[in-house]
Amino acid sequence: MINPSSSPASDSDRLHDRINQVRERIADAAVRSNRSPADITLVAISKTHPAKVLMKALQLGLTDLGENRVQEAEPKIVAVGRSAARWHLVGHLQSNKVRRAVQLFDVIHSLDSMDLAHRLDRICEEEQRAELPVLIQVDLGGEETKTGIPEAEVAALAATVRECLRLKLIGLMTLPPYFDAPDRARPFFRRLRELRDDLQLKGQFGDAAGELSMGMTHDFEVAIEEGATMLRVGTAIFGEREPRAAV
Ligand SMILES: *Cc1c(COP(=O)(O)O)cnc(C)c1O
Repeated sequence: MINPSSSPASDSDRLHDRINQVRERIADAAVRSNRSPADITLVAISKTHPAKVLMKALQLGLTDLGENRVQEAEPKIVAVGRSAARWHLVGHLQSNKVRRAVQLFDVIHSLDSMDLAHRLDRICEEEQRAELPVLIQVDLGGEETKTGIPEAEVAALAATVRECLRLKLIGLMTLPPYFDAPDRARPFFRRLRELRDDLQLKGQFGDAAGELSMGMTHDFEVAIEEGATMLRVGTAIFGEREPRAAV
């Protein structure tokens, strides 16, 4: 007997339904905030999900996929196709993974040090990659999160990136502490937008948009209200994650 709940057709239907629900929620939140849904990029965070699920998501119209670990992403990107999606790295990048990251990803959301900026720039040159779009990950949660660069160092890192010929600073990213009530993330999103506005005034994004990568499954609507232009949504699209990674 075939268990209907695990047949590929119904898995695909569920994915289709979830993507549509997320798109509706994005559209509603955008309209509420006088924004156009077209200005908001949905990055589907596919960590722990196997390559065949990612392919299905692309068939269903998603264009941007995000992974948080280079090692897990590599075989999946190879299986799905390097040019089949726009690939986003959203997790911390270790220095010994920089070359693979430069080869595999279109956008890096997790630039968090000057050392990493210089290393990325040098390896882009070695790999003959002309331009790598990056976002600076800002730590706004202090003790609670400890991911990204402290707020006080953002301007200096942005200036460093401007000196890196192959890096293109396109925006800021943050991962606030987890709150049960999504509205409690609002001050973090608002602060990231203020930092973005400051950098924009100083011309640090050049001709780039000054993206705000913020908002996940439980708080993306609040993030949209505060100006998010790149949402990183995993669970609401792919369902709950298994504790261990699958390829
Ligand atoms: C896993 C992850 C997400 C997505 O989280 P969900 O709650 O499943 O939407 C977003 N950003 C980063 C950096 C992540 O690691």
